[in-house]
Amino acid sequence: MSSDSIAVVDLDRCQPDRCNYECQNFCPPNRTGKECITLRGDDAQEGDPDQIHISEEICLGESCGICVEKCPFDAIEIINLPSELEQEPVHRYGDNAFALYGLPTPEPGSVTGILGPNGIGKSTAVHALAGEMTPNLGEYEDEPDWDAVLDRYRGTQLQNYLEQLIDGDIEVARKPQYVDQIPKQFDGKVRELLERTDERGELDYLVDELSIRPVLDQDIDSISGGELQRVALAATLARDVDFYFLDEITPYLDISQRMTAARLIEEISEAGDRSMLVVEHDLAILDLLADTLHITYGEPGAYGVVTDPKSVRNGVNEYLSGYLDNENMRIRPEAITFEEHAPRSATKGQPLVEYPDMHKSYGEGEFSLDVEGGTIYESEVLGVVGPNGIGKSTLAKMFTGALEPDEGEIDTELDIAYKPQYIEIDQPMRVDAFLSSITDEFGSSYWNTEIAQPLQLESIMEQNLDDLSGGERQRVAIAACLSEDADLYLLDEPSAHLDVEQRVQATSAIRRYTENHDATAMVIDHDIYMIDLLSDRLMVFDGEPADHGTARPPQGMRDGMNDFLADLGITFRRDERTGRPRINKPGSQKDREQKRSGEYYYS
Ligand code: ADP
Ligand code: ADP
Ligand code: SF4
Repeated sequence: MSSDSIAVVDLDRCQPDRCNYECQNFCPPNRTGKECITLRGDDAQEGDPDQIHISEEICLGESCGICVEKCPFDAIEIINLPSELEQEPVHRYGDNAFALYGLPTPEPGSVTGILGPNGIGKSTAVHALAGEMTPNLGEYEDEPDWDAVLDRYRGTQLQNYLEQLIDGDIEVARKPQYVDQIPKQFDGKVRELLERTDERGELDYLVDELSIRPVLDQDIDSISGGELQRVALAATLARDVDFYFLDEITPYLDISQRMTAARLIEEISEAGDRSMLVVEHDLAILDLLADTLHITYGEPGAYGVVTDPKSVRNGVNEYLSGYLDNENMRIRPEAITFEEHAPRSATKGQPLVEYPDMHKSYGEGEFSLDVEGGTIYESEVLGVVGPNGIGKSTLAKMFTGALEPDEGEIDTELDIAYKPQYIEIDQPMRVDAFLSSITDEFGSSYWNTEIAQPLQLESIMEQNLDDLSGGERQRVAIAACLSEDADLYLLDEPSAHLDVEQRVQATSAIRRYTENHDATAMVIDHDIYMIDLLSDRLMVFDGEPADHGTARPPQGMRDGMNDFLADLGITFRRDERTGRPRINKPGSQKDREQKRSGEYYYS
């Protein structure tokens, strides 16, 4: 008996009519006549009366795991809970369903961050804190009761919040994670969507700060992902509520837009004593924005634990180190580390392309791009940085030959595999069918190790492309790009909607792939930590977005970071304990010192 393990059966996957109950036939307790795996009967999903149920009292736990191996549909998870976990769950969705341990603590006048993987219960926690769902404290058979929840949290920082919530004194506004879905729910102009949110009379200010004015009279379904993200932020922050929940603020935004969003959230929280809860995977921005931090860990889809609040500095440090001090909990075998000093600029391979100075204009009064000539090498990962609308895709199109420069000429036409920023793979086709249509290597042990595993594709292979979440779609799109046979792999914002672990895994997949194939990758991204971990060299774009841009030649990391960050006016200091880069508060002593000495990143 092992009551310290949980059994989770995914009822969307359990299909007994197709498997002949392999799990039940092989379960050791069942074979000795015990009722460990039984049939659900009336409890099952409609139409599937014979789905299984696992008794957590009888089950032998993770070390057995025979049913997990036997199930052909990956429907079962048996997981030993960490022994450090002393409390009972705050909520369990039902028998053999997801369990959440712990709740985040909203604080008036302060920004609380949440850092952790997707599928770990963050939205569940927010449903509870928004009063939309009464947590059942794991007793899913009983009617849930707020007084019992309050009893559990009496004497903690959450008590005050919960009392107000129960009295009906808390109003909530939330920004959804996947802004791409907004046009499916709202039909009309940007102005119409925003006007109904203007509860504090601050909408004009937000519209200007977030540079939304130029698109106010456009239809919601005609604006870009970056514009949608800013409209969604404005619509949420314009409301007059006590508790704001922002689920990812950075996807599709460039760095200065990320900094602006962070500043507005802090301002609104401080000025009105409002509680902000922010889920964010761009660690540099989360570090700048949050006052306190909860880390979430566990097993996505099975159970999630929300830690007690930590200082943001310690929280991020512990998270990166892979070990949570107070919880005495290892969440990853290795630490994620950053180079404190710029790597020596070593170009590894043969030149892939040498290109001259070039110029391209889309016409009189339209956007124009100047390209300063340079060389790109085989086996290198070139980070590409610069604001949105500065000509990065325009240059990519010149490399593929899709676009002719007005001046200058590239004499090699490169085969480019391209992952666009906005991914539209909404076909009713399964992931495995889609990927095997791209490469003959699909399913080979090599492809599995280099691509499927680091991008966590195994569990979604049988799903349809149009059922995938944003993060799943991103992983499939990165895999599809790397699976093509090309000279140059161009990935535009691969970090969007990936959690931190997935960003690190995707980074190493891209790096390994280029090294093993003498290929070249150009990666456009706005997550500085990801750019730092990925890049051998940097290509910096500057200028005036939507008007004119200049592409500087690829250069070493130190010079590249200095050029890029000087243009933005942002400096990074190093954490004393871990050496991790941290954004300086604008105008702080360190910020001014570093600007004077011209060392923006590797100070
Ligand atoms: P996150 O916000 O961290 O991505 P969620 O809170 O949305 O995670 O979901 C955590 C887990 O809970 C998921 O595995 C999800 O499938 C499961 N879950 C969510 N809602 C329900 C529900 N109503 N019944 C059963 N399981 C659910
Ligand atoms: P980035 O990739 O850096 O976001 P792009 O190269 O996509 O930038 O675009 C740079 C600018 O050129 C944008 O203002 C965009 O609207 C404009 N642009 C892109 N394609 C065209 C086109 N075919 N005609 C006119 N303007 C264009
Ligand atoms: Fe049975 Fe538990 Fe073993 Fe699965 S893990 S076969 S339910 S004892």
